[in-house]
Amino acid sequence: MTKFIALVSSKGGVGKTTIAVNLATALMQFGREVVLVDANLANPNIALHLGSPKLPATLHDALAGTKHIREVAYLHPSGLKVIPASLSWQAHADPEKLHATLLELIGTAELVLMDTATGMGKNTRAALETADESIIVTTPDLPAVTDAIRTSMLCEQTGCNILGIIVNRFAARQEELTIPAIEAMLERPVLGVIPEEEMHRRALALQHPLQYTHPESAAAVEFRKLAARLLGQNYQPKL
Ligand code: ADP
Ligand code: MG
Repeated sequence: MTKFIALVSSKGGVGKTTIAVNLATALMQFGREVVLVDANLANPNIALHLGSPKLPATLHDALAGTKHIREVAYLHPSGLKVIPASLSWQAHADPEKLHATLLELIGTAELVLMDTATGMGKNTRAALETADESIIVTTPDLPAVTDAIRTSMLCEQTGCNILGIIVNRFAARQEELTIPAIEAMLERPVLGVIPEEEMHRRALALQHPLQYTHPESAAAVEFRKLAARLLGQNYQPKL
C-alpha cells in the first residue's frame, strides 16, 4: 500500500520544504521506501535544496503527459528518491492533473511525501485531494498559527485527514507561543518540534539534506524522532 502525506501551510517560509526534505530522508533511514515529490508547481524548491537545477525531465513533463511519472524520479546521492518540479519560470502545469498523475506512483513506494505550495489555491487543494494524510507546518508565532488554523480548515474541506502539527524554528524564547498553547489553538497534537538550526544554511549550500550532512545536529535528531513517531516506532537518540 502506498500512503500519500502532504506537508502544508498557507503561510510561506515556515519550513515546509526543509521539513519535507529532512523528514523524507529520516523515514528512508528507518528503512522505508519513500519518494519525495515537489508538488509546488509554481514555485518549486526541492531541486534547489537537493542541487539538481538542470534536469532532463521533471514532474512538469509528467503532468504534460510527455513522460511517465516514473521516468522523472531521480536518486539523490543521499539515497533519497525525488520527483522534482521544473525550476523554469516558463514551465506551466495544470494542478488539476496532479491527482491522476501522482496516483500512478501507487505501488512504487510505501510513502509519498509531498512538499506543497504556500497559500490555499488550486495547487494546494490538488495536493490535499491527492494526500491520504496531511501534516500542518507552523512556526511558534501568532500569525503563523492563525494561518495554520485556516490551513486545517482547508484540509477538512478537502477531506484530507490531519495527522497533526510540526512546530518549526522553535527556540523557546519568551515571546514565542508554547507547544501546549499551539495545541490548544489548533486543537491538534504537535507531532514534532524542530529547533532553530543554524546548520540548515550549510546543508542548503551543500545541496544535501541536513539529516545527511549533519545527522548529529539537534534538528536532525528531532527529524528522526518525528519519523519514528509517524512510523509508530520508539526512537531513543544517543545522548
Ligand atoms: P517554506 O517551504 O514553508 O516556504 P522553507 O523550507 O523554504 O519554507 O524555509 C524557509 C527558510 O527558513 C529557508 O531559508 C530555510 O533554510 C529556513 N529554515 C527552515 N527551517 C529552519 C530551522 N529549523 N532553523 C533555521 N532555519 C530554517
Ligand atoms: Mg517551500
